[in-house]
Amino acid sequence: MTKPVLVAGAGPVGLTLACELARYGIPVRVVDKAAARTDKSKALVLWSRTLELLDRGGEAGAAPFVVAGFKAEAVNFVAGNRMIGQVGMGDVRSPYPYGLMLPQSETERLLEERLSREGVAIERRVELASFTVRRDGVEVVLRHAVDGREEVVSADWLIGCDGAHSTVRHGLNAPFAGETLDADWVLADIHMHGYPFPDSEAAVHWHHDGVLIIFPISPGRYRVIADLPSSGAEHPHAATLDQVQALIDRRGPPGLVAYDPIWLASFRINGRKVGSYRWGRAFLAGDAAHIHSPAGGQGMNTGMQDAFNLAWKLALVIRGTCGERLLDSYSSERSAVGDEVLKAAGRLTAVGTLRNPIAQAVRNIAGQVLLGLTDVRHAVADTMTEVSIGYPDSPLNGSGLRGGPAPGGRVVPVAGCAPVGSGSAPRFALFAEPTVATADLLRRFDGLLDPEVRPGFRDGAIWLVRPDGYAACAAEDPATIAGYLERL
Ligand SMILES: Cc1cc2nc3c(=O)[nH]c(=O)nc-3n(C[C@H](O)[C@H](O)[C@H](O)COP(=O)(O)OP(=O)(O)OC[C@H]3O[C@@H](n4cnc5c(N)ncnc54)[C@H](O)[C@@H]3O)c2cc1C
Repeated sequence: MTKPVLVAGAGPVGLTLACELARYGIPVRVVDKAAARTDKSKALVLWSRTLELLDRGGEAGAAPFVVAGFKAEAVNFVAGNRMIGQVGMGDVRSPYPYGLMLPQSETERLLEERLSREGVAIERRVELASFTVRRDGVEVVLRHAVDGREEVVSADWLIGCDGAHSTVRHGLNAPFAGETLDADWVLADIHMHGYPFPDSEAAVHWHHDGVLIIFPISPGRYRVIADLPSSGAEHPHAATLDQVQALIDRRGPPGLVAYDPIWLASFRINGRKVGSYRWGRAFLAGDAAHIHSPAGGQGMNTGMQDAFNLAWKLALVIRGTCGERLLDSYSSERSAVGDEVLKAAGRLTAVGTLRNPIAQAVRNIAGQVLLGLTDVRHAVADTMTEVSIGYPDSPLNGSGLRGGPAPGGRVVPVAGCAPVGSGSAPRFALFAEPTVATADLLRRFDGLLDPEVRPGFRDGAIWLVRPDGYAACAAEDPATIAGYLERL
């Protein structure tokens, strides 16, 4: 019998991974040392690409998240009292052309409900204390807080989704290279009146002193983030409402009044990442593998997408459909994305916190010029919503053709068709005209191909799309597609 995959950590990443594995019929154990899920709003936004991937699972796809959240449709950039530009998300080619504002506590609640419907209960107050990775599995020691008992578990696979201070990462001695930025940051979830933009729009205010970012959470409730000179403390004191109001008065629009704080915090920004996400039978995902500036709100989304990437591959290997080599692509694909996210978040933070007045003036002029260009605005929106993420250098990429997505490129979900990768098994999909050749492929690769053939991109050609919605290969000759599937 297949041993359960052991997932350490039931944050948004561990929950996403467990939900995906469970719906693919893979036994899974999820342990978390905390007694309950977070009650903090922490990561506030689910971007378009994450919603597309969530849409592949659960009874109602992404709908429960969309119903619970609040749609942010644009981001305004302002310098002093000058409007620099606006990036709208309405033109993003996705069924979800917006950032969905949803406190992390709610995202976790909805994922927990999804997991529970798959018949998996989270084992709380159970800590992964130590482990040993062997050639063919992992031996793990779990510590139960209820009675102090230590349980030794033998698992085939261990996934460390145990956050920024990951025990799994430490146990692997995986270097977490990077830096801590020399600034304190204030975070406040508060009520405000006098916000000059529609409640569906966020605002980034560039000021001589630093940056002030305002995200709507729901009508009348906002997340405010601002940088402060470094106090030198490793854990800066939590912000106060007066401090937040003073920052708003100085850097933000006039007449904005903050009241009824829900959560006031301070933090320092770390930009760190491991070099490899796979260590034999152990993997790292989410904050355990990468942490970065919250600028751009990509941290949790990147982690959840690590989980989506790993789940279908692990499921195919555990089911015996594919060889273990498939799993190597997890690290190369997701580590490349992690590098990009780290760089982009660092750049955004640096641009927002420029101190030199000449550099600030250049930034403001360049920002206005660039955000005046439609192509630039679209590129920024695609990056922000993560629909531009792809795997152009993936070892899984096969041949390509003009006229459709390149190998490793995202395939836009097709209205009226089930999302690729939905259902109870990880299946590739064909995008082509239904012909004798496609019927033959479906017969030959019964367990690996989705019976629903989606509309093609070009006459006489077949695109093969992975269970996570990225193009695998394209060819006019069905034998090329068959060869690709056989090699898996
Ligand atoms: C103040 C703050 C604001 C943030 N704002 C944003 C934002 O605006 N946008 C954004 O994208 N991200 C934001 N983040 C980051 C975001 O919260 C993380 O990226 C996200 O939580 C990562 O999810 P995860 O599942 O990888 O890790 P976590 O959410 O940290 O979950 C890890 C889980 O593992 C458990 N665990 C740890 N060690 C063990 C062990 N040894 N055994 C068993 N269980 C263990 C923990 O109890 C926890 O439940 C913010 C974070 C903070 C702190």
